[in-house]
Amino acid sequence: MEMKAPRGVRDILPDESWKWSYVINIAAKAMADYGFSEVHLPIFEHTELFSRGVGETTDIVEKEMYTFEDKGGRSITLRPEATAGMVRAALENNLCAQGSDAKLWCFGPMFRHERPQKGRYRQFYQVDCEHLGCAGAANDVEIIDLAAEIFRRLGLKNLEAVINSVGCPKCRPVYREALIKYFNNYKDKLCETCLDRLDRNPLRILDCKKPDCGAVADGAPDIYNSLCDECREHFEEVKRGLERLGIAYKINKRLVRGLDYYTKTAFEILSGDLGAQNAVCGGGRYDNLSDSIGGPHLPSVGFACGVDRIILVMEQQGLSFGERPKAKVYVAALDNSARGEAQILTHKLRSAGIAAQCDTENKSFKSQLKAAGNAKFACILGPDEIKNKVVTLKDMADGSQVSISDNELIDYIKDKLK
Ligand code: ATP
Ligand code: MG
Repeated sequence: MEMKAPRGVRDILPDESWKWSYVINIAAKAMADYGFSEVHLPIFEHTELFSRGVGETTDIVEKEMYTFEDKGGRSITLRPEATAGMVRAALENNLCAQGSDAKLWCFGPMFRHERPQKGRYRQFYQVDCEHLGCAGAANDVEIIDLAAEIFRRLGLKNLEAVINSVGCPKCRPVYREALIKYFNNYKDKLCETCLDRLDRNPLRILDCKKPDCGAVADGAPDIYNSLCDECREHFEEVKRGLERLGIAYKINKRLVRGLDYYTKTAFEILSGDLGAQNAVCGGGRYDNLSDSIGGPHLPSVGFACGVDRIILVMEQQGLSFGERPKAKVYVAALDNSARGEAQILTHKLRSAGIAAQCDTENKSFKSQLKAAGNAKFACILGPDEIKNKVVTLKDMADGSQVSISDNELIDYIKDKLK
């Protein structure tokens, strides 16, 4: 039987993985510049963390989670997103004790049982960045600026930041009622899912991608008319802050995001080059997530970038991923008597931090030289070189050769590779 990976997952192979390292390194540097520290968190958590933290009536919890019972009979879920785990970890480890804040980020796989298509997988990867324990609008501005900065550094073009306010538990119930009243007039136009959502989570209807529901949603009451003074002022401050930093944005009153825990600011960064799966980043404020998982009140704001999609866009836009790492030096043994010395020299080069390869399969000198074609230099070792304690160094770009003594070789190559 030929084994295949399950549907919706894929292998990130060497032709691609170096691009991933580039993207994650750029993002990591930007996040460090903004004061965020990396953490490594579990990939599975108690199911309850997500049902309570993300929300019972969300698509993620209702339809998309990989949930199973472990050998001890506990319900476990592969994380569909990272925010709930981040808050759980901060609470459990007292990172926000006595009113202090925590700026954390992580990278890793998330799991959602969705219909696989371009830019949508069942195992996908996020860079997730969270500022826990911060209430003011300046923090929302900072987090949107950071997300935008990552994309600036990666060179992505044709992006659009979209923002909205989804209110808070004080003003959302009022808006909810207004929405239910409105959508009840259009029951014949709504899809099955939206009809089902009508009483439970009418905000989610605003987010429906089906054209008929969208047309109805376009005419829905405006959330800005329902926002309480605090939420309204917060939203105004976010807009002013973004303008101060010169960050262009659009307002989309239908942007509600798929997770229940959002309060006040919600935002997405969309790419014009991704078709239907156009969000490369989604985030917002979630002042009540901690409360909902049994913790203290912990106002927070964060975002998650989809790395799979970022790479798709960068490839499509022909952007640079830096230089693909490859062996700088190939050590070739002229005959069998030199093979041992060739391996010793390769080891020395590697120990000095120079990427080096040599043949370990008894290949002919000719095929070794062919392999050396991928490197910048070939170090040729034969009986004469070994006797005279030298190496013949061949520059693969122009074919020129020089003889260098053993003890000068490493400094010489390091200098040439600068
Ligand atoms: P979408 O509307 O595309 O389903 P989402 O709102 O469910 O996105 P979030 O939960 O906000 O996505 O996750 C943040 C980011 O993670 C998204 O902007 C996207 O780039 C990426 N992402 C989400 N789901 C997937 C997936 N199934 N495959 C690949 N990337 C994904
Ligand atoms: Mg989704």
